[in-house]
Amino acid sequence: MAIHNIMEEIVCEVLVKHKEDLQLTCGCDRCLDDIRAIALNNLSPRYIVQLEHRPYVRAPYTADRQGVTNIMLIVTKAAGIVSQSPRCQDQVSK
Ligand SMILES: [Zn+2]
Repeated sequence: MAIHNIMEEIVCEVLVKHKEDLQLTCGCDRCLDDIRAIALNNLSPRYIVQLEHRPYVRAPYTADRQGVTNIMLIVTKAAGIVSQSPRCQDQVSK
């Protein structure tokens, strides 16, 4: 049976929803992946097996103000790091 990291989808949603607010210097797929990876490294994963538990596991991060703010902060920080030195530019220059 597959396991799902609920954090992955939450970070993904936050990124899509707030992409404009984050003022990214580059919004290509590589940079968005980098932001997701950095953000997820700074968040504890929340694995679930049964998808019907998803709403309960998500609630503290999507419905609770403190949880939402915390994830926004981490995603914003990750976006700042990637915006300062986008990896996709390195690949082009090589
Ligand atoms: Zn890029």
